[in-house]
Amino acid sequence: MMDITLNAPKLFDLSGQVALVTGAGSGIGQRIAIGLAQCGADVALLDRRTDGGLAETAEAVAAAGRKSLSLAADVTSGPALAEAVARTEAELGPLSLAVNAAGIANANPAEEMAEDQFQTLMDINLKGVFLSCQAEARAMLAHGRGAIVNIASMSGVIVNRGLSQCHYNASKAGVIHMSKSMAMEWVDRGVRVNTISPGYTATPMNTRPEMVHQTKLFEEQTPMGRMASVDEMVGPAVFLLSDAASFVTGVDLLVDGGFCCW
Ligand code: NAP
Repeated sequence: MMDITLNAPKLFDLSGQVALVTGAGSGIGQRIAIGLAQCGADVALLDRRTDGGLAETAEAVAAAGRKSLSLAADVTSGPALAEAVARTEAELGPLSLAVNAAGIANANPAEEMAEDQFQTLMDINLKGVFLSCQAEARAMLAHGRGAIVNIASMSGVIVNRGLSQCHYNASKAGVIHMSKSMAMEWVDRGVRVNTISPGYTATPMNTRPEMVHQTKLFEEQTPMGRMASVDEMVGPAVFLLSDAASFVTGVDLLVDGGFCCW
């Protein structure tokens, strides 16, 4: 008789898990944090600002019947991240899931870009993800169990037509390859690391009024003819963090409406 004891829908259940989400006060990180709570996880919400966004996320987590902890910290600070993980474990329990979504974007032609514009973005988008993973994995490795999803970008795979953002594209390519590297370092110690590479997504990062012309172009250039909503990042994140992805590590999941096919 075939073994059919596996309960497939249960694979996506995150009950009893504790997650930390960076960039949880806005956009993709905010929506994923709420999604993890809706799947049963308690969630530590980290962002650099305490005003506005984080409180809204915490309210939505409470509405899902889960606990949250709001943490104001900058992902460029290793000690701040270590303290955030320690507080998460003290107040919510052993950390088992993490999503690193904090990031910034801006543009400037390469020949005009000042060194500090390049460096500041790299510090947040690449070093910030490294320091976040390091703090999270130190806890997860001690428990012998964990899953991390880093939010990279399709800009780590392609060059966005018309956007002069060599520093951003390089930071995201770095996140993808760094995540694969960490996945292999921790592959035999119970910690999985994957990336999600979103295509153009409607978030405060790119729906500012001055971006109206640009967003029309984003829609035209995307095979599905539209930008993603933040809701559409939840399923991929839940999948990669859950037992449904127990044999998935070192993968970059493009969630781009077909962009990278063309
Ligand atoms: P968002 O709405 O601006 O959210 C990013 C959040 O991260 C903001 O709350 C931001 O705070 C926070 N943050 C920035 N720097 C931080 C730091 N040093 N420490 C702690 N928190 C910090 O942007 P999003 O569109 O959701 O982007 C989330 C991630 O997805 C980013 O890594 C981005 O590169 C990536 N992504 C976005 C798209 C897209 O089309 N939107 C596409 C591909 C990839 P502030 O508001 O104070 O900066």
